Amino acid sequence: MAACPKIVVVFDFDKTIIDCDSDNWVVDELGATDLFNSLLPIMPWNALMDRMMSELHAQGKTVEDVRKALTSVPIHPRVVPAIKTAHALGCDLKVVSDANLFFIETVMEHLGIRECFSEIYTNPGFVDRQGCLRIQPFNSSPHACANPCPPNMCKGGVTEKLLSTLPEKMFIYLGDGVGDYCPSLKLREEDHVLPRKDFPVWDLICKAPTLVKAKIHAWIDGQELEQTLLQTISEICASFPDDQDISSSQMMSADWKLPSVSTSAAHEPLRRTALPMHHLT
Ligand SMILES: [Mg+2]
Ligand SMILES: [Zn+2]
Repeated sequence: MAACPKIVVVFDFDKTIIDCDSDNWVVDELGATDLFNSLLPIMPWNALMDRMMSELHAQGKTVEDVRKALTSVPIHPRVVPAIKTAHALGCDLKVVSDANLFFIETVMEHLGIRECFSEIYTNPGFVDRQGCLRIQPFNSSPHACANPCPPNMCKGGVTEKLLSTLPEKMFIYLGDGVGDYCPSLKLREEDHVLPRKDFPVWDLICKAPTLVKAKIHAWIDGQELEQTLLQTISEICASFPDDQDISSSQMMSADWKLPSVSTSAAHEPLRRTALPMHHLT
């Protein structure tokens, strides 16, 4: 029986689940950095990635080469356990990302976490008849959003749709980038936003924190992502009388080191692990 069926956790992908930008990673690994940099000033990012894939295809690089490059993306060692624990606790996990479906699914399958996610909202990515990877915009027509969202995708629009489809759920949103600001503004008072500290979304939130109705919990790296996410899940679960059955064995099975929350201590701050010094400088 799931312990936290009332929670939806929405993850950004680049620099949130993985510790780099997957588009940059593939371009760099396949030796196309100079071409990418020369076209970036004159092309929108999403269209440029489609162009880069056809340039690489013309140079003889295969989809297998792209796939191989993606299997070496850096990821903090605590992120996969955090995702598996949230899934095991019954949370509904989704991804909203401006990368593309091919990159995201390739990385997730490599990490063994694809089945943890119920939905992936991102730019379509598919292999055409010539064996070339094609990347298309998520929003086929321009969105009218006034927030700093890229022209091909407004993540706030996706978040609004999720909130209206699943109004009884509590939302947790994790992200780092400019595109994660719009969804942060859409969340309700009862929701939680987990911005990556000192990254663009954090800077935007800090400029006018009262614009964000959701509770804000920052994290710096994968270790803090795990602690902050699981603590937030634990606190939400403890606030529902029927769902206080997260057993310590469930937490321990996924190697979660924080103490589980008792009913009486549900709203007390949990003990936090001291940060290594380099995170404070
Ligand atoms: Mg990101
Ligand atoms: Zn937007």
